[in-house]
Amino acid sequence: MRHAIRCLFVLSLALFARAQTLPSYLISYRLAMSRPASHLFEVTIDISIPAVDTSAFVDLQMPRWQPGRYSVADFAKNVQQFSAQSQNQPLEWDKVDDQTWRVQRRGQRIITATYKVFGDDLSGTYAQLDAGHGNYTGGEIFMYVAGHKQDSVELHVEPPPNWRVSNGRTERFDQHDWKYPNYELMIDNPTEIGPDWTVDDFKLGEKTYHVVVHSRGDEGGRRPAFVRDIEKIVRAETRMWGTPEFDSYTFLFHFAADNRSGDGMEHLNSTQIIQSGILADRGSYYSALRTAAHEFFHVWNVKRLRPVEFGPWDWTKPAATRALWIAEGFTQYYGVEMYHRAGFDDSSEFLRDLADTIATIENSPASKLMSAEASSMAAPFIDRASYHDRTNLENSSLSYYLKGELIALNLDLLIRGWTTGQRSLDDVMRRAYDELYLKSPNASYYLKGRGYTVEDFKRIVSQVAGMDMTGWFEKYVRGVETLPYDESLAFLGLRLVKTAPSEPYTAGIRIDREDRQALRLGTLRPGSPAENGGLQQGDILVSIGGTTVSRDNWRNVLNRYKEGDRIPVTVRRFGQILQLTLQLGPPEIYEYRIEEMPTAPPEARKLRAQWLEGN
Ligand SMILES: [Zn+2]
Ligand SMILES: [Zn+2]
Repeated sequence: MRHAIRCLFVLSLALFARAQTLPSYLISYRLAMSRPASHLFEVTIDISIPAVDTSAFVDLQMPRWQPGRYSVADFAKNVQQFSAQSQNQPLEWDKVDDQTWRVQRRGQRIITATYKVFGDDLSGTYAQLDAGHGNYTGGEIFMYVAGHKQDSVELHVEPPPNWRVSNGRTERFDQHDWKYPNYELMIDNPTEIGPDWTVDDFKLGEKTYHVVVHSRGDEGGRRPAFVRDIEKIVRAETRMWGTPEFDSYTFLFHFAADNRSGDGMEHLNSTQIIQSGILADRGSYYSALRTAAHEFFHVWNVKRLRPVEFGPWDWTKPAATRALWIAEGFTQYYGVEMYHRAGFDDSSEFLRDLADTIATIENSPASKLMSAEASSMAAPFIDRASYHDRTNLENSSLSYYLKGELIALNLDLLIRGWTTGQRSLDDVMRRAYDELYLKSPNASYYLKGRGYTVEDFKRIVSQVAGMDMTGWFEKYVRGVETLPYDESLAFLGLRLVKTAPSEPYTAGIRIDREDRQALRLGTLRPGSPAENGGLQQGDILVSIGGTTVSRDNWRNVLNRYKEGDRIPVTVRRFGQILQLTLQLGPPEIYEYRIEEMPTAPPEARKLRAQWLEGN
């Protein structure tokens, strides 16, 4: 055993030495878009290879996904018309797998590769080029040179006439050229290219903030107020974290004037937020602010204080980290917190918001099946992944955003309680950022400091809480025990109230959302009256207790009955009518609210006030 370990150690040292001495390539990218309506971006990559490098070929790779969206996107599927040449002579190339183009060098030291990428999806993950604008993040457009992601790169963007370029590293708005320390930082820049986006700036201390807006609908004159509200979010978050590290930061908004868009994506010095509706609409306005409160928190949590797997990135296989309940879940909690601290909702709306998240998690059949860590590991399947098969994820999977938000809520309140208001989760976040990002030696070329493991995080929570949190993490992070809401809320003189809704029974039935006409059953809750009664997904529900039902009235008809009743139901399955029986059990769905305890002692009221005031 010892010998084997030593051999491995020597081997890994040798590999490390090789990686360190790989001669750097000069890599420059050119991006053009001469025919926007074709949705085709035109990419040219010039690679200059030093004489000492005698490798026979160069591999160019499209990432399979990109940071922030963990489902596999397979950007290579949008690549077409690849070619390679040197000094105007074509070079042989071949695909060696679904994401890799291998170019034979034939001794050449200057290689140029060109290709086009189709993009017509304004999503923050894929790219879009159309007559109105070009929009991309980077990984969906640019191939990297395998083995040379760490080399510095240059980028030249050639927009159509009268279109301007803005990205997270823009210094002047007529800028067309950028340099980045490595490929990974180049593709961390949401970029907007178009004729009619606007930019409003504000300064806070030494830092400049750009608010770039591309509205596809009416703004109703609300942009100045919107920019002032963004500033309130920045003030609330920098009050907690201190001065951010960047010189400038860009909020890039799209108001998509539709009813289906929706995305927020964090980047090192910027965020891209795509909002349905229009800026003039109150709902869209505040929804965009909520997303901004979440995304700006990522400046610290995720983009700098990061899980160990988050950079340098391996884009040849899906992400595998146990820490998304921290990276996304804690950010979700603080997004809600910061929206409140910035003054956009009052205390009762804030508590309502948290109680709604509790309801979502506690009503989910997966809350006893999937832990926060397991949810994180399932991210490639649940972070906006699409399927052609039917899955049981509605019953078996849980959001690491929402479960993480509730873990954060509980930890925040418990730490406040245990330390009688001396410390909070804010201290955990600041201490982790300081130790792991600011003060740890650089673990790689990618970024300052090192990434954390869940163990690191547990240690820091334990230090701040003043007690060993190992058992707590076992129960609530690795395990699926119900979070200790009663204990944590009681410290602040609050309690969680669980009540049956006015129509408490569903019999475990969910309606198929795809079928807009028939009352077709979707995924049924496991162990529910519907499943026990022999109903199955795909059945069309015809009547309950002899009353014909529709999509509008079935809940109402079902709720004429009570627990223990046996109800005859009629369903149509593959054209045949079946008579089945439902026996109602206890309600499947509960409502939750957080309310103040009238008898709370003064110390608890004081802790509550501190928390609600964001201190
Ligand atoms: Zn745009
Ligand atoms: Zn996020």
